[in-house]
Amino acid sequence: MSNKIIEKAPAGAGTELDVLIIGAGVSGLYQLHLMREKGLTARICEAGSGIGGTWFWNRYPGARLDSESPSYQYLFSEELYRNWTWSERFATQAEVEAWLNYVADSLALRQDIDLDTAVTSAVWDESILRWTVQTSRGTTLRPRFVIACCGMLSAPLTDQFPGQTLFKGQIFHTARWPATGANLAGKRVGVIGTGATGIQVVQALAPVAGELTVFVRTPHYALPMQNVQYSAVEIEAYKSNFRALQDQLPVSFGGFDFAPEYAWADLSPEKRLEILEACYSDGSLKFWLASFAELFVDEEVNAEISAFIRAKMRARLNDDRLSEILVPADYGFGTRRVPLENGFLEAFLQPNVHAVPVKSNPIAAVTPTGLQLADGTVHELDAIIMATGFDAGTGAFARIDFRGRDGLSLRDHWQKGVSTAFGLQMNGFPNLFMTGAPLAPSAALCNMPICLQFQNEWIADCIEHVLENGGHVIEPTAQIEREWVEHHDLVAASVLMSKTDSWYVGSNVAGKPRRLLAYAGGADAYRTRCLEIAESGYSGFDIH
Ligand code: NAP
Repeated sequence: MSNKIIEKAPAGAGTELDVLIIGAGVSGLYQLHLMREKGLTARICEAGSGIGGTWFWNRYPGARLDSESPSYQYLFSEELYRNWTWSERFATQAEVEAWLNYVADSLALRQDIDLDTAVTSAVWDESILRWTVQTSRGTTLRPRFVIACCGMLSAPLTDQFPGQTLFKGQIFHTARWPATGANLAGKRVGVIGTGATGIQVVQALAPVAGELTVFVRTPHYALPMQNVQYSAVEIEAYKSNFRALQDQLPVSFGGFDFAPEYAWADLSPEKRLEILEACYSDGSLKFWLASFAELFVDEEVNAEISAFIRAKMRARLNDDRLSEILVPADYGFGTRRVPLENGFLEAFLQPNVHAVPVKSNPIAAVTPTGLQLADGTVHELDAIIMATGFDAGTGAFARIDFRGRDGLSLRDHWQKGVSTAFGLQMNGFPNLFMTGAPLAPSAALCNMPICLQFQNEWIADCIEHVLENGGHVIEPTAQIEREWVEHHDLVAASVLMSKTDSWYVGSNVAGKPRRLLAYAGGADAYRTRCLEIAESGYSGFDIH
């Protein structure tokens, strides 16, 4: 590739590394780059056979961004930004995956990435102040620091129904979609789940499948995406905007280039409606994140905005039975992750697409030929697509057997209650850093690359600080972790999403302790707090 930014970079081979990074997604790639910039030896272990993390694994039909491509970006290099060209406003999975491969090539990262290498355990060794890390390849690494960039949504809920192994057709989880694709043309396909993933699958497969049967437990609010293919003029316009994005996104509430401009209480009903219509027409997440901030905290405002969207959905469907199944009735707009869609509702108006409600008549089992509901009804299928989501936030970290000081198990630690200091570290786990982990905005209440970059940079500066000051170990005190959790809970109690069941609060996984996973006080406030800590010489963190 002609646009190499770094021609040479130090190789991080060997078992006694400075830093082991887990995951070669958006976060891990940048973390590796930063570690090299600091002159440290670092390697990535990546479970997948390719680069891209989420964008490697989630290659199901219809997968695409719902942040706008020009702002779903790294902001540290204008050259890196300008030398990649997005073809559309909301890029496909394939394009995002290609972009991340471009990033890896441009920064010459590949030589320090071990693919097909899952980290299975990481045990802190107090005698040498290093982690002992085992991988699925049987290798052992002894880094001083581990940075777990495992992903917020990368532990898929795959085994959900009795009888799954007996099914004679094909069965897929969307986050484990085969690289070779799947030929579903003309087949009887069942889709379980109507979250952001299920919505994208349904609208992509409706024109392809012979019969598409969608099993709907909790419908989502449908917010239409206005996607456009970029012209040469639009490409130059978005590229020219780099400096503005670089200045604005990191200090914004959610890592986006829009924010609410008006307060609901200050406006007449007519003016409110005008703003709602304008945000709706924008066809982006602006309607959710930048129409009226009150929708997150005020039940009455939320009810009015929910009614606005419901009316739009009913008008699109123009069918009472479908509206009953597909229009949310028992929770407020924006209290679960709002996905953008493109013809999702209209897909159900096609004769080959069927909506089956499964709230009061749940899926009981997979049979050799289809899906059986509690009342005994069997839906005969050739293929089942499980868009059933993830053990979010904690899942990807907890499937690694992390053992901190005195053998403390991360799984046990979190089973009692999900707790971190700023989503960056945990007491009892020296020299373990995390990104996209619980109790930070990057745990999904943010445009992910923007919030992840901040965490990556904070971690890199922190490790540099420790080493430059002759330290070996850094760990948050139990007190600062407790204080952060208390602050997080206080903020969480004020937002309506804490009260609605969803993966945001862990209620989609049986037995998972309930806590809002993402910090809801804003990426800007989070950033300010984390920078204060750094400027204070990492007060609240024990360095020795
Ligand atoms: P999800 O939002 O957790 O949705 C899972 C779906 O499966 C829900 O509809 C759920 O119903 C259903 N389900 C689970 N178990 C079921 C069962 N036993 N019976 C019937 N239905 C069942 O997961 P997701 O759609 O994969 O999305 C997760 C997150 O990934 C999103 O919120 C988003 O942050 C991210 N994502 C982003 C994009 C994008 O940016 N373009 C695309 C896809 C995903 P209930 O709601 O009733 O539990």
